[in-house]
Amino acid sequence: MSHDLRKFQKASQVVHAGQSVDPTTGSVAPPLYQTSTFAFETAAQGAARFAGTEPGFIYTRMGNPTIQRLEEAVTALEGGAAGFATSSGMAALNTILFAFLKSGDHLVGTDCVYGPSRVVVERDWARFGVTSTFVDTAKPSAIEAAIRPETKIVFIETPANPTVSLTDLAAASRAAKSAGALLVVDNTFASPILQRPIEFGADVVMHSMTKFINGHTDIVAGMVVAATMELSKKIRPAFNYLGPCMDPHQAWLALRGLRTLSLRMNASQDNAIKLAAFLERHPKVEWVRYPGLESHPQYALAQAQMDGPGALISFEVKGGIEAGRILLDNVELMTLAVSLGGVETLIQHPSSMTHAAMSQPERIKAGITDGLVRLSVGCEDVRDLIADLEHALSLV
Ligand SMILES: *Cc1c(COP(=O)(O)O)cnc(C)c1O
Repeated sequence: MSHDLRKFQKASQVVHAGQSVDPTTGSVAPPLYQTSTFAFETAAQGAARFAGTEPGFIYTRMGNPTIQRLEEAVTALEGGAAGFATSSGMAALNTILFAFLKSGDHLVGTDCVYGPSRVVVERDWARFGVTSTFVDTAKPSAIEAAIRPETKIVFIETPANPTVSLTDLAAASRAAKSAGALLVVDNTFASPILQRPIEFGADVVMHSMTKFINGHTDIVAGMVVAATMELSKKIRPAFNYLGPCMDPHQAWLALRGLRTLSLRMNASQDNAIKLAAFLERHPKVEWVRYPGLESHPQYALAQAQMDGPGALISFEVKGGIEAGRILLDNVELMTLAVSLGGVETLIQHPSSMTHAAMSQPERIKAGITDGLVRLSVGCEDVRDLIADLEHALSLV
């Protein structure tokens, strides 16, 4: 559909990925095919499409030209073979699990993954006989120790949610491969601008495109990218029958958001670097965790596997949960909301919000202390963001 983008820089790739001039009208913006079904010219053509002997669209749950542009775009950016756009990030995760797991199988995962990702595995997939062990995958030895003969998936989130701790992708890939398991990576926090897990041996990458890829806080969406066509063939039937597809209009908006991914990610990251340094110097701040700070325990790993430290910061105000509450209630420019990766700066309290479904001991074990505050830094002028935090912290 589009020309080979690999020779271009990432900023050029996001502007052009999945974009080719519409052959019928010359439209530069991608056409929105808001349709559920596609007519066949003849009965023979319909049969050939179903048999897979002729390319072409059949029904939007299985494929649609607007959605396909988005799938091709994210697949190209991740360096994968095929992509499956889904209605949400959770739909992306469940599609992967539906494609590759059966009763009796085991999954090893990062303990501080996005809260619902862990809950759905431990509570819902467990009802179908899937067992799991969530460990601190920042230590590669912990992955090896948790792997069992029946382990089929190693599920990594790096940087992870909300502790911003990292996992060594190459080491995780070696551990998974030696056990015959697949390495699945949630790349939502970094986006393909900053990290491409397939380069380090990931088999499947997933995104909540609700976050950085769309970036405008106006849709919920997800993506599954398979590293090889062989893996894609296993995902295809799961995708068609589970029915996690997105709406064409959602795809159209995500494509529009994607065009500025590089600009937004770089602006947010520049702001985050400055805000993290500001917080680290502030006398009322207990600790700050950000992969761009030398104080981050995995600063060297961030430099080795990421093209930048990203836009997520976690920190704790001295005085724990109560002090954090005062901070959250007194920011003015920052918005008190869950989610992340949009143009606006969001601030939230994981232990009472995104990670409230985990038990407190589980949270503490995963590094999610009661006072931890998570900041998703947006594209505002950093001077305003610093002034906002300065003022809210003065009231603590
Ligand atoms: C938000 C998020 C998800 C879930 O995505 P939805 O689009 O909300 O379904 C999964 N993983 C990470 C890292 C997230 O931030």
